[in-house]
Amino acid sequence: TDLPTTFGDALARHAAERPQQVALRFEDRVTDYATFDRHATQIANGLLAMGLKKGDRVAYLGKNSDWAVELALGSARAGMVLVPVIWRLAPAEVDAILNDSAAGVLFVDPAFVRPFAAEQVIVMDDGFARWRDAQSDAPPPVSVSDDDVVLQLYTSGTTGAPKGVMLSHGNGIRQRKNQIEANIEWLLANPGDTTIIAMPYGHIGGVGVALGAVNSGQELIIHAEYDAGAVMDAIAAHRVRRLFLVPAAIGLMLQHPKAATADFSSIETLSYGASPIPLPLLQQAVDRMGCGFVQVYGMTETWGSIVALPPEDHLPGREHKMTAAGKALPGVELKIIDEDGNTLPPGQIGEVAIRSPNNTRGYWNKPEETAKALIGDGWLRTGDAGILDEDGYLFIQDRIKDMIITGAENVYPAEVESAIYGHPAVADVAVIGVPDPKWGEAVKAMVVLKPDATCDEASIITHARERIAGFKCPKSVEFIAELPRNPSGKILRRTLREPFWAGHERRVN
Ligand code: ATP
Ligand code: MG
Repeated sequence: TDLPTTFGDALARHAAERPQQVALRFEDRVTDYATFDRHATQIANGLLAMGLKKGDRVAYLGKNSDWAVELALGSARAGMVLVPVIWRLAPAEVDAILNDSAAGVLFVDPAFVRPFAAEQVIVMDDGFARWRDAQSDAPPPVSVSDDDVVLQLYTSGTTGAPKGVMLSHGNGIRQRKNQIEANIEWLLANPGDTTIIAMPYGHIGGVGVALGAVNSGQELIIHAEYDAGAVMDAIAAHRVRRLFLVPAAIGLMLQHPKAATADFSSIETLSYGASPIPLPLLQQAVDRMGCGFVQVYGMTETWGSIVALPPEDHLPGREHKMTAAGKALPGVELKIIDEDGNTLPPGQIGEVAIRSPNNTRGYWNKPEETAKALIGDGWLRTGDAGILDEDGYLFIQDRIKDMIITGAENVYPAEVESAIYGHPAVADVAVIGVPDPKWGEAVKAMVVLKPDATCDEASIITHARERIAGFKCPKSVEFIAELPRNPSGKILRRTLREPFWAGHERRVN
């Protein structure tokens, strides 16, 4: 099949084939593909007129918006690299990313304007639209190829400081080609399908969804940030066919008063991933929403999903696969390796390694981290512990850095959290390892109770003991008001661990 090789080309083709189809919907602004295409060209020309060149970084700090998506396509068409920064980070964290990226220009939402180090700062108020519309709409004099970097996306910073991942047009585009060839119809979006971006722009589940929508010619409903009630309303109003949410967002949706009466009938598939999902939450979502569910596993370094669990594996009778992250998508190879890089047989736990057309060429400015992750021959090591079964299903255990070694046993927090999550009084739970004089580390659960619920340590431990092996059960439980999460909804176990490890040394994997 003759498919576009860059995002700029993909947009141009949709503009030619379906000029009047809605491309972007944000608040009261509706943009069709022809207009979107012209805006992207104008932004590309505007960036070049500012003195920026192909390969330069263009930073964006703000919430999701149609303009943020136009900026991505404008920068892509000029051969530049968009660096979308998560607005929820603390100013010092934002500055660290901006400095690391060495972006020459920063586009910033009015709400986040403050002094910045960047040479040029453009505020995205009405002045942005005037600036854009004043630019030439002639094709920009830049040639862009699939190997050119289009995004520099910072990892979520779950296990350490965020790292800038360089991603090319091809990393984001080739996957669709493979999926079309393999006819994965439960994942493929068609032109005109409606989807929503509600996850933060600075993560692959945000900007990656937006660029994916452009690649396949979808109508993209843009929510500035995640609001479970507003997303449920939009699903019904716009007959949304596919969407992606992180597990924490699904949890908020089901707890929302609107969930009882919301209309989910337009959804063909809801993809979820980016962190482990507790099985009771998944079961509850399947029962309530009644749509197809697709678990996805991937990371910033692989432009998102490289493994997926199809809807059929969420149906009764297939429960034994429901704890899997899924199978390798077309064009993706998986293996499980030991510490020395040797491949392990099916059924054994080790580190997940990936070879795929989505794989990053490395981290910006971090040669040592790059060398640790890219182990040669196209393979990327993930830092995740997993098992492949005989059928090729990948079961993610957890991050190796979060694994608890208690006595001689390895405990993966996600499994323990899943066991505790189903307790009727529990709203949220995180499991960590704390120092223990006898066992090295002991399993500890940090529990958030549902409003008005009461419960004690013994009740939590008993609940876990009925579901998982004794050595995996928490030795202690602490009740807290809220779990620390990063903007992608991931529990920051290292933050929870910190106070317990003061004065102790924890092994590093
Ligand atoms: P950092 O690399 O800075 O520590 P991060 O790894 O959280 O942050 P991302 O690239 O956003 O940054 O997340 C990728 C990670 O998310 C994966 O390595 C994996 O640990 C986790 N993850 C993604 N999908 C799933 C899934 N379906 N089930 C369990 N974990 C998942
Ligand atoms: Mg990571």
